[in-house]
Amino acid sequence: MTATATRVPDLDDHAASVRAWLIQNAPEGSVAAGDEYDVSVFHNLSHDVEQGLINELRAWQRAKFDGGYAAISWPADMYGAGLPAEYEDAFKQAEAELVPLPRHELLSVTVNLIAPTIRIFASESVRSMLLPGLLDGSLLACQLFSEPAAGSDLANVSTRAVREGDDWVINGQKVWTSGAQFADWGQAIVRTEAGSSGSRGLTTFVIPMDAEGVEIRPIRQMSGGTSFNEVFLNDVRVPDSHRLGDVGDGWAVTRATLGFERANASNKKGVGGSFDQLLDLARRTDSLGHRDIRTHLADVRLREVGAEVALRRDKRARDAGEAPGAAGSMRKLQWVTRLNLVSELARTMLGDRLIADDGEPGTFSWNAHLLGAPGYRIAGGTDQVQRSIIAERHLGLPPEPRAPKPSRTEATT
Ligand SMILES: Cc1cc2nc3c(=O)[nH]c(=O)nc-3n(C[C@H](O)[C@H](O)[C@H](O)COP(=O)(O)OP(=O)(O)OC[C@H]3O[C@@H](n4cnc5c(N)ncnc54)[C@H](O)[C@@H]3O)c2cc1C
Repeated sequence: MTATATRVPDLDDHAASVRAWLIQNAPEGSVAAGDEYDVSVFHNLSHDVEQGLINELRAWQRAKFDGGYAAISWPADMYGAGLPAEYEDAFKQAEAELVPLPRHELLSVTVNLIAPTIRIFASESVRSMLLPGLLDGSLLACQLFSEPAAGSDLANVSTRAVREGDDWVINGQKVWTSGAQFADWGQAIVRTEAGSSGSRGLTTFVIPMDAEGVEIRPIRQMSGGTSFNEVFLNDVRVPDSHRLGDVGDGWAVTRATLGFERANASNKKGVGGSFDQLLDLARRTDSLGHRDIRTHLADVRLREVGAEVALRRDKRARDAGEAPGAAGSMRKLQWVTRLNLVSELARTMLGDRLIADDGEPGTFSWNAHLLGAPGYRIAGGTDQVQRSIIAERHLGLPPEPRAPKPSRTEATT
């Protein structure tokens, strides 16, 4: 089957054929499969094992592409199957159930965030150069957004690009770049108008991560592993054709990518610490007799169900063409709140068994959950920033006080 569907099949028929295809084609296991007690939030793998996992996921992405399932809701003339979003949701749901591969952020960033941005904003030549590879797993891409002084205030970018003939020369530093050490391309927001400040004067480019002048330094996390990196850009030269959107419109392009990120945020499958894992821990530690533990367990379960309901509600609204508003922020906040509640409950049940490994399976392993969970309170917009978005855009509360923007003559360069 190829990705050129022209008629819309019945949704139930589609779901049935998806399941049959997944059962026939799903890989059996993974080099990076954790044990049954793995509740980690971030990978803690050696570089080689992580590379092996990425290779497996690339191969799986390729199989989906060849099967016509890599871009189900994309238009048929743009490598997609031209089906409604709910058909893609049906595939993702069955995939989560039937494919036993661990997840890796870089695949999801590539396919769900950067590929759609390129589809909308890239020149025809960049679209045909990158989109097939981004969708079939042969090319992976990371987000080169954050900088040491530009995180929540993302528009405060200081990395600059200067035009030289048909090229741009980029200098600066990015940070917290997830998966940069395994990425082939990066989507970077940089300042192209000298003297501009804030969201004005920014432009977005795609940069080959093996270009001369790109230096990637992995950052060690407190949970182990090196999910993200510092990326130094020293006189990196890219042609003007690698620009996404118009010169000076980089903020709109980046906001579109962040919009895709928020739409995808919630209930990350593959992040450890489910209700079932917590209940298993409660049984093994004889904690179920404690009323407070039972109450907290019920709270976690209710939040899981609430998240599923919210996801379905927001998908229905999306399918009906409603603007997403603050829905993604609400789901992300609900998810990280639950994630941290799970950590807290595990800590209550395990006490000092979290500090040193006494060899009993499924106890010290929760240490990886506790050390990883806080990361998602920051990634993709911190809790505080999500709360401000919900307050202002959903509840209509007065906006947070914001520092006055410097006039163009005041701005430092
Ligand atoms: C796991 C992980 C993966 C990441 N992956 C990537 C990636 O792939 N690419 C990338 O570019 N970046 C990535 N990031 C960076 C992430 O987007 C930023 O860390 C995040 O936006 C916060 O920015 P900051 O770290 O500069 O914190 P700051 O903005 O300095 O915030 C510090 C504190 O101040 C609070 N604060 C700041 N502004 C406000 C405000 N207006 N109102 C209320 N409180 C405020 C924050 O909530 C926070 O508590 C990742 C981060 C993590 C943790």
